[in-house]
Parts: sequence; structure tokens; C-alpha cells
Amino acid sequence: MKKTVIVTGASRGIGRAIALKLASDFNVVINYNKSEDKANEVLNEILKNGGDAATFKADVSDFNQAKALCDFAIKKFGTVDVVVNNAGIAEQKVFCDITEDDFENMMRTNVGSVFNMSKAVMSEFLRKKEGKIINISSVWGICGASCEVHYSTSKSAIIGFTKALAKELAPSNIFVNCIAPGVVDTDMCTFDDETKNMLKEEIPVGKIASPFEIANTVKFLASDEASYITGEVINVSGGFVI
Ligand code: NAP
Repeated sequence: MKKTVIVTGASRGIGRAIALKLASDFNVVINYNKSEDKANEVLNEILKNGGDAATFKADVSDFNQAKALCDFAIKKFGTVDVVVNNAGIAEQKVFCDITEDDFENMMRTNVGSVFNMSKAVMSEFLRKKEGKIINISSVWGICGASCEVHYSTSKSAIIGFTKALAKELAPSNIFVNCIAPGVVDTDMCTFDDETKNMLKEEIPVGKIASPFEIANTVKFLASDEASYITGEVINVSGGFVI
């Protein structure tokens, strides 16, 4: 039976690329929050290429909606095998301008969503004694970004979460890993052309990543080939952060 993956925030950017890439091997549940049309475009592309998929609207920063997303996936495809916690937001502000609300919203969206989805799928994973969680962090969670203290904090928290949960769940045959992308060409990458050119000079491979270059690593971690990897943080940053 074909396995099933839930990709959060799969309407655009990296999540879209992950959904499209995994569709050759998995039934894909395409989660979105606001971008319904974009999510339907991803769905249609998968169906057109002979894959099986479904969309589901859920704000995964809310536990009940995350639970509804997992329940939908199990009802639609029979089970869930892999959850990719990709949904996230970013914001650039100097530290003195970051309000408590900004901080709370960042943590609820970027970290709360990872907690919510992992918790919501856990009874199914433990029942099967099998499952994979792949979290999308960021190199800024490793080295810190100026003017992105709340974003960097949230992405560091995802790394701590990954390592701790991986240790706890390895005896239950549940694998938890994390990818830390560098600069990726999506809507989130709002730098002007001059800044992008400066960044390219700083990135050893000399270019900004395509979302599919992140999706390739997700595909590997989601596969049976990654059978001895858990608790890892894999940088996909073209040598930007080592
Ligand atoms: P993006 O193009 O802005 O897309 C963000 C996605 O997240 C959208 O599909 C959006 O869905 C979804 N989303 C946001 N809040 C959500 C919520 N509460 N519930 C459900 N979905 C939600 O961003 P991206 O660049 O692809 O980023 C994807 C992930 O990679 C993020 O975790 C980001 O931190 C990480 N990352 C990105 C970069 C980069 O340079 N782009 C680098 C390192 C790490 P809707 O549009 O449907 O609301």
C-alpha cells in the first residue's frame, strides 16, 4: 500500500516543492491556511501526474485544527506515515520593535505547529510502531540572524524539539529529523536584488536554493533509505552555514 505524508504549508514555496516531490512515492495531504487557490494548483499538478492527493485547510498553530488535519488524512488514506512540519512565518524587525504579540505569534506558528502536529499524529504512530517526523528549521536557528531574533529563536527551538523527541521515540521506531535550509527562493525571501547578489557572493555554491533542493533532502529522510538517521539537523545551505 502506498504510504501517506502530510505536508504542512504546502500551498506555496518549500512546502509546495515537498508535496510535488513526494507525490511519486506517497499519497499527499496538502495542508494550507490562507492560499486555497494555490493549494488546489498543487493538488491538480499531482493528480495530473498520476499521483493521489487531497487538500485540507488548517491553521496548524491551533491544536484542534492540527488534530482535524491528521484525522482527515487517516480517514482519507487509511493512515499517516510521515509528517513534514514545514508551515512557518518570518518577520524582519530590530529587537526593540519586536512586541510581545510578535514574539508570541512567531512561537505559536513556528514552534506550536510542530508540537501540535507531532502530538496529533502520535497515537497513530505509536499504534503502528512506525512513523517519521521531518521538521523544517533554518540555518538562522543555528547561527542566529540579526533583526530576526524571534524567528531565529523559533527555529532553534525546533532543533531542540527534534533532538529530544528523537531520543524519546527511537525505541518506538519513530524517527524525528530536521532540515535547516539556507536562503531559498520563495515568497519568504523578500530581499531586494542588491541584497540577493550580496548573499550569493557569501554562499559558497554561489546561488540561492530552489525549493526543490530542500525537497530532495526531505524525500531522502522520508524514504526507507534513511533507516538509521534520527535526531539529526541537516544543513541544506550551499555551504553558507557549516
Ligand atoms: P512561504 O513561501 O512564505 O510559504 C509559507 C507556507 O506556510 C505557506 O504555504 C503558508 O500557507 C504556510 N503557513 C504559514 N502559516 C501557517 C499556519 N498557521 N497554518 C498552516 N500553514 C501555514 O515560506 P517558505 O520559504 O516556503 O518557508 C517554508 C518553511 O521553510 C518555513 O518554516 C520557513 O521558516 C523555512 N525556511 C525558509 C527559508 C527561505 O529562505 N525561504 C529558509 C530557511 C527556512 P498559506 O499561504 O496557505 O497560508
